[in-house]
Amino acid sequence: MDLPALPRVVIVGAGFGGLTAARTLAGAPVGVTVVDRRNHHLFQPLLYQVATASLSPGDIAYPIRSILRRQKNAEVLLADAVAVDPASRAVVLADGRLPYDFLILATGARHAYFGHDDWEAHAPGLKSLEDALEIRRRILLAFEKAEREPDAGKRRALLTFLLVGGGPTGAELAGAIGEISRHVLTSDFRAIDPGDAHIVLLEAGPRLLPTFPPELAAKAAATLKKVGVEVRTGAAVTAIGDGFADIGEERLEAGTIFWAAGVAASPLARSLGVPLDRAGRVLVNPDLSIPGHREVFVIGDLAAFLHQTGRPLPGVAQVAIQQGRRAAQNILSSLRGEERRPFHYRDPGNLAVLGRGSAIADLPRLRLSGFPGWLVWCFVHILYLIGFRNRFIVLFEWAWAFLTGKRAARLITGNVESAARPPGR
Ligand SMILES: Cc1cc2nc3c(=O)[nH]c(=O)nc-3n(C[C@H](O)[C@H](O)[C@H](O)COP(=O)(O)OP(=O)(O)OC[C@H]3O[C@@H](n4cnc5c(N)ncnc54)[C@H](O)[C@@H]3O)c2cc1C
Repeated sequence: MDLPALPRVVIVGAGFGGLTAARTLAGAPVGVTVVDRRNHHLFQPLLYQVATASLSPGDIAYPIRSILRRQKNAEVLLADAVAVDPASRAVVLADGRLPYDFLILATGARHAYFGHDDWEAHAPGLKSLEDALEIRRRILLAFEKAEREPDAGKRRALLTFLLVGGGPTGAELAGAIGEISRHVLTSDFRAIDPGDAHIVLLEAGPRLLPTFPPELAAKAAATLKKVGVEVRTGAAVTAIGDGFADIGEERLEAGTIFWAAGVAASPLARSLGVPLDRAGRVLVNPDLSIPGHREVFVIGDLAAFLHQTGRPLPGVAQVAIQQGRRAAQNILSSLRGEERRPFHYRDPGNLAVLGRGSAIADLPRLRLSGFPGWLVWCFVHILYLIGFRNRFIVLFEWAWAFLTGKRAARLITGNVESAARPPGR
């Protein structure tokens, strides 16, 4: 006797949201197909540590296939999704079509240059392992080039690092570059003093870290100052080119510029044919489905959920994780003939690290900064990293770096010739 085929749930994107949805469906009477264009799940909150040579790529990435190895109702497909065809219930892949009964779209976001895509070659952003290794290469080669530069003016420009965007990623990158220059590279060069590096964090808004309470943001600015970071607020970048950034009439010369401002939702959202917000995110229903298609759910950075606060929820891992769980549970409710539940975000707080042994933590009943904040930051990040080996290695690396102030083993990058290569995606 033929058994009836199980309903097929296709999940596109195995980031925080998609992976949580897939795991929530473990053991359920559905077939799960997880599609991602990369073979690994990436722990993006620690990308800046790969970019600044604290961790290796393999420490923060894990093969999706291995994560779902024991989940018998799940399969993994390495494929690039190029569109969704809601009318015929299929995901269009670069090399085929994938039919679904239910779809969870979780393809996240990437950096946006506010209509100036040509800035990307001069100021790469941080989203993938390739981006992180490119940023690491630019940081380390800036010191190498400065060591060989006889002209004092050019040397100063080479040792100037500009970071555009004063949110957590910009602040974390700035703090880590400050730490490398002031504490890690101190004895490695002969002609230059890496401690002379000039690190400038540019924020267009009135203050650093706008998603944190003002007093924690002020503490963060003070901590960054100690590692040589100059924070400039009200500084909207108007042009970026080879070796410079303009703030209106003012030109800042810098050997290295990084972009940490603005994100845009994955372009896949456009193919759904439903209303999007200005950042290209899908305006989802309270149950995370999309208007007109109860079988399609959009979650994480790709979704604009306005039903709780009237404004989109922040683009953070916890929103994606909790939405992944709710979307999967709502699919199961529908299959059981039960009513779906609206999504409600429980905010566990906000964290940002600013250098060795210092972080800020804005928790529901507690605000911490400095070393206590850093301990909370370490605990939370270890808890959410995937894989025992990764947790163990990262914990060891942090303890080692904290106790010795060294990270020599990771100060490795590509050769000088690859400098002409555009940043990876
Ligand atoms: C540098 C950086 C630092 C961050 N720091 C923090 C932090 O400290 N705390 C915090 O909470 N959040 C942080 N975030 C944000 C957090 O990582 C995101 O909110 C979270 O990853 C969103 O999860 P998601 O599942 O929506 O998307 P993602 O995790 O981005 O996953 C999307 C997945 O979809 C796949 N994909 C994309 N397009 C396609 C396609 N067309 N076809 C197939 N697959 C596709 C991608 O390969 C990826 O695996 C940070 C983000 C960055 C970039």
